Amino acid sequence: MADVSIRRLGKHFGTVKVLKDVSLDIADGQFVVLVGPSGCGKSTLLRTIAGLEEVNSGEIRIADRLVNDVPAKERDIAMVFQSYALYPHMTVSDNMSFSLRLKGVPKGEIKEKVARAAEILDLGHLIDRYPRQLSGGQRQRVAMGRAIVRDPAVFLFDEPLSNLDAKLRVQMRAEIKELHQQLGTTMIYVTHDQVEAMTMADTIVVMRDGVIEQSGSPLELYDRPRNLFVAEFIGSPS
Ligand code: ADP
Ligand code: MG
Repeated sequence: MADVSIRRLGKHFGTVKVLKDVSLDIADGQFVVLVGPSGCGKSTLLRTIAGLEEVNSGEIRIADRLVNDVPAKERDIAMVFQSYALYPHMTVSDNMSFSLRLKGVPKGEIKEKVARAAEILDLGHLIDRYPRQLSGGQRQRVAMGRAIVRDPAVFLFDEPLSNLDAKLRVQMRAEIKELHQQLGTTMIYVTHDQVEAMTMADTIVVMRDGVIEQSGSPLELYDRPRNLFVAEFIGSPS
């Protein structure tokens, strides 16, 4: 588990400024939802935290450690991708253990970690199946399992439910929240869906055009939006 602290983060692609002096403090164990219109910089912010994108200025700290120059693999972070990012030719078990095998983790330990993740996610009976033999929701759980086995200090989610149907989305929101309650790990969750933000977040962070407009609890943002943009964004159904 870990605090995440971001100080005056700047990122540009060519001449386009995508993150403009973004500062954000996330307390250990929080479920933070980063929300904002398409193109405002949510994925870029997440990718800089993960170490998949270099920053041009500012500081990123994870558990008080400055990580600007720490490679992604050494940041103690796991990113959950959409379910279609599973390896199609590997079983559920192999999908989950892949990163641990790459790291050379002993076999016995891998087995334990995969079994634990499978239990948490209720995937035990599906462990030898291939992704094509799973439902959308089951695939999404495997995608989460790949992150869980790594025991990360921070989980990052980038619109993980966007390719699921509406009913499954509602169910998976609850499962992700349950996972958060079980693990107690810091989670940063990106979505452009206000309902998702309102129902899942301890803290909502509203972004617009590379800037954080406001952050606070769902109730705070709903009751006391700082400006019209936040009011309209939070108040309007998706
Ligand atoms: P969001 O996730 O909020 O939709 P992104 O972080 O993906 O937004 O993108 C923010 C802006 O940065 C967009 O204008 C996008 O076109 C631009 N952008 C993102 N990645 C790159 C890249 N690798 N090269 C150039 N521009 C990029
Ligand atoms: Mg995005």
